[in-house]
Amino acid sequence: LPNLFKEAAPVLELIENAGYEAYFVGGSVRDHLLGRSIADVDIATSALPEELKRIFSKTVDVGIEHGTILVHHGRNHYEVTTFRSETGYSDFRRPDSVTFIRSLKEDLQRRDFTMNAIAMDRTGQIIDPFGGRDAIDQRIIVTVGDPDARFGEDALRMLRAVRFLSQLSFSIEQHTFESLAANSQRLENIAAERKLSEFEKLLLGPRRQEAIQLLSKSGMSRYLPGLNEKNRQLISFSSHLTSDLDLAEIWVLLLFELGLSGKEVDNFLREWKHSVQKIKRYKQIHSMLLHRFEYQWNLESVYKAGLDVAISAEKVFGSLRQDECSLEVVIQLYDLLPIYNRRQLAVSGNDVMTWMTKQPGPWLSETMAEIERAVIFGKVPNEKEKLKEWLNAFNRESEKN
Ligand code: ATP
Ligand code: MG
Repeated sequence: LPNLFKEAAPVLELIENAGYEAYFVGGSVRDHLLGRSIADVDIATSALPEELKRIFSKTVDVGIEHGTILVHHGRNHYEVTTFRSETGYSDFRRPDSVTFIRSLKEDLQRRDFTMNAIAMDRTGQIIDPFGGRDAIDQRIIVTVGDPDARFGEDALRMLRAVRFLSQLSFSIEQHTFESLAANSQRLENIAAERKLSEFEKLLLGPRRQEAIQLLSKSGMSRYLPGLNEKNRQLISFSSHLTSDLDLAEIWVLLLFELGLSGKEVDNFLREWKHSVQKIKRYKQIHSMLLHRFEYQWNLESVYKAGLDVAISAEKVFGSLRQDECSLEVVIQLYDLLPIYNRRQLAVSGNDVMTWMTKQPGPWLSETMAEIERAVIFGKVPNEKEKLKEWLNAFNRESEKN
């Protein structure tokens, strides 16, 4: 067994010794059976949250309303979730109520896909009542039970199906596939935050091109923020997702493919519930990308963008205009910069006011910007005395004109 399971085994044993059942479940078991590396293990148990708290001295209520608590053990902590069934889906979203149960099988039955409905005990014994191992062997994504019913209960599962296709390079079983198209409209009711999380995993998967095409073909993309009637743009987007782009760069590529500008960019990113910081960064990269279509990089644009933003913009540019892309140029220009931000200027606004014996006003920031430009382009060294001389000459020149 992989180390992560071995390290967590004592947690399962402690729960068992107290008279309950405990198993590894979910993605870690699936990934283990697939021979993929696992990031963390999830534990499911017949013990109620209150009963777990009597077993472990250190716990945190991370999602106690769903029956999940965090258990500290040794150097690690684990999410332990009480077996539950979910009943009463009235609005195609979250279950109305969570019912804790003592049956593993019933807990596995509420899970989305057969490959995710497998349990493993601490010795490595597999409990697989819904044929999950077969599905993994055949590399297919198939719902536990009737797909129409399961997608009706929670429409996010449809997006998860396509996300797993992208991540695992599985295909979607025929009935499950047909059900995606038939039920796509149910995605309307799903919160953007939940869509975002699955969509981003999809965007990073090795089969993302196929996954995006499937979103478009099945009609699911109509119910994703800002993507209704954007099939042509989505296909173009997927066709340009060839190089090694990070998530920020992928979002900027999407902004570009959608042809958004100004306020539309803000609205689109906000609809997807991106954080304020991310929106700010994506907008910076996007605006440098648009700039890049008009101009080659120069010292000033690299300075203004900053190295990270400039590189990201150039990478996105490269995915659109492969032969014209040059990360080298960006890096070389950046290396040539005498300063990287205004704070590094050898003069301050106060110096300039004193030299010119003038009250502050709009002239000051204009003058500072001129000094900054002169330094960036190497017209004057970034030294106080030299800058004073340069400024005097510059002012004489401006008076003449
Ligand atoms: P990953 O490796 O990306 O974390 P995962 O399969 O562990 O994939 P999670 O979102 O972490 O996915 O969910 C853990 C488990 O909970 C799943 O394997 C599945 O059994 C169950 N699950 C998660 N979301 C749903 C859902 N919307 N409907 C039914 N079961 C779900
Ligand atoms: Mg997981």
